[in-house]
Amino acid sequence: MTRHRRLHLILSIVLFSSLVSCSRREDELHIQADPRHPNRYICRFKIMGTDASIIVRGEDITSVRQSISPAVSRLQSIERTMSTYRDDSEISRLNASGHASPIRISKTTMQILRKAQKMYRLTDGAFDITYAPLRSLWRRAEKQKRRPSEEDINRTLSHVGNNQLILRDGTAQLAQKGVEIDPGGIAKGFAIDQAIHALQEAGIQNALVEVGGDLRVLGHPNEEERWRIEMRDPRPGKHEPIILQLHNEAVATSGDYHRFFRIDDQKFSHIIDPRTGYPVRRVPSATVISQRALQADALATAISVMNLEKGLHLVNTLDGVECLIVTREGTGTSDHAETHYSDGFLSRVEQ
Ligand code: AMP
Ligand code: MG
Repeated sequence: MTRHRRLHLILSIVLFSSLVSCSRREDELHIQADPRHPNRYICRFKIMGTDASIIVRGEDITSVRQSISPAVSRLQSIERTMSTYRDDSEISRLNASGHASPIRISKTTMQILRKAQKMYRLTDGAFDITYAPLRSLWRRAEKQKRRPSEEDINRTLSHVGNNQLILRDGTAQLAQKGVEIDPGGIAKGFAIDQAIHALQEAGIQNALVEVGGDLRVLGHPNEEERWRIEMRDPRPGKHEPIILQLHNEAVATSGDYHRFFRIDDQKFSHIIDPRTGYPVRRVPSATVISQRALQADALATAISVMNLEKGLHLVNTLDGVECLIVTREGTGTSDHAETHYSDGFLSRVEQ
C-alpha cells in the first residue's frame, strides 16, 4: 500500500479549493460545510499512508456525520486487514506463513484476492499481486546499488503468477516458500468502492470519495449533472489542468513521475512487469475511468505494464472504460512523450 500521496494527480475538487482543510483528531471526524454550496460537506483524513477525503450532500452536519462515520470506519478496517506495513494484518500473516498451510481469511480479504485474480485474467497477467517477490528483488538491488542478474530474475519469476496463490473454502495458501503478495495496486480502488457502498447504505445519494488521488463519484455535485474533477495534465510541458466530467464513475492514475527508485543514476518505476521481471519504462502515466474504482485502479497499473496497442484495445472493448496513456518514445537524448486516448476519453474532458 502506498505511503506517498499520489502527487502526479493533484486532485482539487474545484469548488472546495478555498476551504481550510479539516483533519481527523482522536476519534472525532472533522467535517466542514461548504460556504458556497448549501448542504454540501467535506471530511478530510489520513488512510493507508495517504490523504483522503469524502464529500457528501446532506441536510445538516449531524446527519452527515452519521453517514460518513461508517464509511471512514470501513476504510480503517480495510487498512487493518490489507496493510503490508502492519505485521498483524491478514495479508502480512499470509505472506509470513501462508506457504506452510492454508490460512483462514476474512470475507473481505477473500473478496479482494478474488478480484485481484480476476484482474490478472482480464489483463493477461499484467496485473498480478504475486509480483511482490520481484519488488523485494529490486529493493535489494537498489540497496546493493547493482541491477539483479538475469538468473536472479528468472529464479524470482518462478514464484510469480496466479497459480502461486490458492484460494479455497475460505482459506488462502501460497504455493511455495518465497511467494509473496502485495495488493498495493488494487487496495485504494477496493477501499473507495467499499466506502461508496457504506455511504449508499447510510442513505447518501450524492458523494465523492477520494483516496490518494484516485476517486469515485456518486450522483450529482449540486444542481449540475456531473462532478467536475480537476487533474494535472500528465503530458510534459502542459500546465493547464484537465477537467473531467464524471457521473457515477471512478478515475485512477498510475505513473512514475514521482514514485521511482534509482540504481546507478537510472530511474526505475515502482510498477514491475510480472512477465519479464523488469520495472516498466514506456508508460510514465496512465489514467483510467471506469464505473468501479477497483477496476480503474487495477487497470491503470496494468496499462502501465501492457504493450500500448494491447492496453488501448482492452480498454476500448470494455464497456464504460476510458483511458489516457502517456508513453515515452525513443531513447536517451531523443526521448519524447506521446499521448494516446481510448475512443471515448476526450468526450469526458471539459473543453
Ligand atoms: P498504483 O498506485 O495504482 O499505480 O499501483 C502501483 C502499485 O501497484 C505499486 O506500488 C505496487 O504496490 C503494485 N504493483 C506494481 N506492479 C504491479 C503489477 N504488475 N501488478 C499488480 N500490482 C503491481
Ligand atoms: Mg492503480
